[in-house]
Amino acid sequence: MAIETRNPATNELIKTFEPDTTEEVQRKIEAADKAFQSWRKVSFDKRAKHMNKQAEVLEKGAEKYGRIISLEMGKPLKDAIAEIKKCALVCRYYADSAAEFMKDEEINSAASRSLISYEPLGIILAVMPWNFPFWQAYRFLAPALMAGNVGVLKHASNVPQCALAIEEIVREAGFPDDVFQTLLIGSKEVNAVIEHPLVRAVTLTGSEGAGSKIAEKAGQQIKKTVLELGGSDPFIVLEDADIEEAAEFAVRARMINTGQSCIAAKRFIVVESVADTFLQKMKDKMASLRTGNPLEEECDYGPLARKDLAEELQKQVDQSIKKGATVVLDGGHVNKDSAYFKPMILRDVKPGMPAYDEEMFGPVAAIMVAKDEDEAIKIANDNRYGLAGAVWTRDKERGLRVARQVETGAMFVNAMVASSPEVPFGGIKKSGYGRELSYLGIREFVNQKSIWIG
Ligand code: NAP
Repeated sequence: MAIETRNPATNELIKTFEPDTTEEVQRKIEAADKAFQSWRKVSFDKRAKHMNKQAEVLEKGAEKYGRIISLEMGKPLKDAIAEIKKCALVCRYYADSAAEFMKDEEINSAASRSLISYEPLGIILAVMPWNFPFWQAYRFLAPALMAGNVGVLKHASNVPQCALAIEEIVREAGFPDDVFQTLLIGSKEVNAVIEHPLVRAVTLTGSEGAGSKIAEKAGQQIKKTVLELGGSDPFIVLEDADIEEAAEFAVRARMINTGQSCIAAKRFIVVESVADTFLQKMKDKMASLRTGNPLEEECDYGPLARKDLAEELQKQVDQSIKKGATVVLDGGHVNKDSAYFKPMILRDVKPGMPAYDEEMFGPVAAIMVAKDEDEAIKIANDNRYGLAGAVWTRDKERGLRVARQVETGAMFVNAMVASSPEVPFGGIKKSGYGRELSYLGIREFVNQKSIWIG
């Protein structure tokens, strides 16, 4: 079946691509291996030169690449441009620090000398989602290439132009041929790539379902995986929080990428004494957001990335309301021919409702009221996911105490959850395992080799 690129704002079919045949995939993997045999020997300085050049290419082309993102998955252009600039940042970060992160580590032992040597593994398969179609790919690509690995990317089927643009940018930055290639394949073809003996490891950013399938296949093949999966991040508001600021960030945190972010705040757990004030402010701010054509400056949020995603989200909302959730701010799927979904706030969200138990991947805020800090933590942890979370309080020590008790891969005190190159990123529970970014990220796909000299 052809791979389609469709503008979710208009539903217009922009372009179709013929998927790679089995033979083409085989050829690309063999070419990647050939590239690896020389790339692994290239110095960090030389790798960094290409990586810095890539940052320049990204920055110079930010508007052009941003438009591809907006037209393929509906993100407002200004956000898409910011995404491209963030990719340049991660390229520079690893260009500057990879040599340090990968340098030999001496060990005290009975040997005359013993050390850990960090060595690249070979071809890494990256399976990526559409929501940050450049950023997700670059936070894999930059550390992988700097470590001396090579990559093949199977991008989400609705963003083939982004996938091909990334391959083109790598080329323009002067990297040797085939160190990073796009495989235009559907998800059914992924197993064969994982099984390929030359493919050494897999990283997936995507849903829990895809994570489970990919990890199963990789497990059979004894290949390492990093899984960056879904999240239902708690946003805890304690009674001593700056309520105005908390409400402001609550809206921003829920509305990142029209709510389609793994680290968007999804469950708002508010202490009873401040719940009404917080909710009123949150409602006013959310209601004032503007939508429209993602290419226009005034557009605060665009459509969802596909029509079926809007339908699915509406089902989760309807079921939650049927089970007793109340509507504070009304919105929802605009109409059956559209991918637009107006923001909503639901209150009285309880266990057994999709808004409590599942990930809501769009602009719907689920409000839960807790009687105090302890109950807020209990609710925060009563969830299958454990990606990240935030807590709001004027007492930073209290914030730290709460942060330590929430079961997630990251906690932010008086700040919105966000990723940045120097801070490890990843989850626990059904949000996955392994870490991206920072020195932890570059060490996921390397042989941590012990060397003993007698
Ligand atoms: P998805 O449906 O799981 O797709 C992600 C990628 O996996 C796509 O390339 C998809 O290919 C592929 N895929 C799906 N099922 C597969 C299977 N059975 N075998 C092999 N590959 C498979 O997720 P999505 O809808 O694109 O993204 C949304 C999800 O990603 C949310 O749950 C979100 O929270 C999560 N996410 C997590 C992070 C994080 O860092 N933790 C970041 C962003 C997003 P096709 O498109 O061809 O189906």
